[in-house]
Amino acid sequence: MLNSKVAVLTAYNAPLEMREYPVDEDLKPGEALARVEMAGICGTDVHLWKGELPIPLPVILGHESAGRIVKLGAGLERDWTGQPLAVGDRVVWASSLVCGECYYCRIKRTPTRCLKRKAYGISYCCNEAPHLRGGYSEWILLRAGSSIFKLPQALPTEAIVGAGCALNTALQGVERIGIEMGDNVVVQGAGPVGLAALAVALEHGAAKVVVVGGPEHRLKMALEFGAHGVVSLDEHKTAEARLAAVRAQVGEYGADVVLECVGHPSAVPEGFELCRDGGKYLVLGQYANAGNVEFNPHVITKKQLTVMGSWAFEPRHVLGAIEMLTRSHWKDLFAKQVTHRFSLDQANEALQTVRRLEAGKAVIVP
Ligand SMILES: [Zn+2]
Ligand SMILES: [Zn+2]
Repeated sequence: MLNSKVAVLTAYNAPLEMREYPVDEDLKPGEALARVEMAGICGTDVHLWKGELPIPLPVILGHESAGRIVKLGAGLERDWTGQPLAVGDRVVWASSLVCGECYYCRIKRTPTRCLKRKAYGISYCCNEAPHLRGGYSEWILLRAGSSIFKLPQALPTEAIVGAGCALNTALQGVERIGIEMGDNVVVQGAGPVGLAALAVALEHGAAKVVVVGGPEHRLKMALEFGAHGVVSLDEHKTAEARLAAVRAQVGEYGADVVLECVGHPSAVPEGFELCRDGGKYLVLGQYANAGNVEFNPHVITKKQLTVMGSWAFEPRHVLGAIEMLTRSHWKDLFAKQVTHRFSLDQANEALQTVRRLEAGKAVIVP
């Protein structure tokens, strides 16, 4: 019988534990068994490791992976877009599965808030069979109903994993807040979500995109991605200094749209100030619960701000990411983000590299 090595989060803030689980090759209808070829380490994995989101431990982390189909259950013959799916195909899959029947799925058409939503690498306790529901693993068993996408030949695995869930998240976020041709945009944060938001803003016809963040190597990457300017947190240490630096670049009235991709609560009130009157503010980076912040709601009223949140993404955004990368130079830029590669045995080291913000993007190659 086949076994799969896995890296498991068993306790918060503790090293991941290497385990082995049997690979159930007796697939039920609609299921797919894939060999994981590359698993991205997401900033969210660090938040999960720190215990900032409730999850059913122990969990095999890894929600942005690519792999190769090894076996298909009865009836699973096509990918999410309707293309024929076969053993040997290189694929990615949307990290979450929704029920399609609850209040949010059916009536409010907001499947990201599905009451029964479950995500690979996040919400499956790996003590329960069939165990293999996360990407830090040699093998993954995809449930019936998973949104699987066959990857175009022209799209390298590094590009899609390098873009990770950040690009899907940015695509839904920008779709929700809306960017118009000629808008001046500020992106707060130069991590993977910030860079992805920068790319999507440019795709939407933004006239100028300025990225506020750090560290220096991430700002350099932002400029390579096409940012018109960057504002370094190291250089501009106060919110006032950053506001002045942003206005020097986007004009005295402030930005039309500000995209928060930081995750630290203090970014939000600072972001309101970066908006022009009548501007729009998207809270995209607060995926984990990092606590409270004090702010004056008078600013929102007086400036007539539109403030919006966005949570995760739908399968169609995964398709959007695949298409955006495949047809353009973005695939090379996102592939270049993959700066650190680790074996599965080095999963702890990989996670710590991301925690210390040393990597562009760290991946596990099982
Ligand atoms: Zn993620
Ligand atoms: Zn639902």
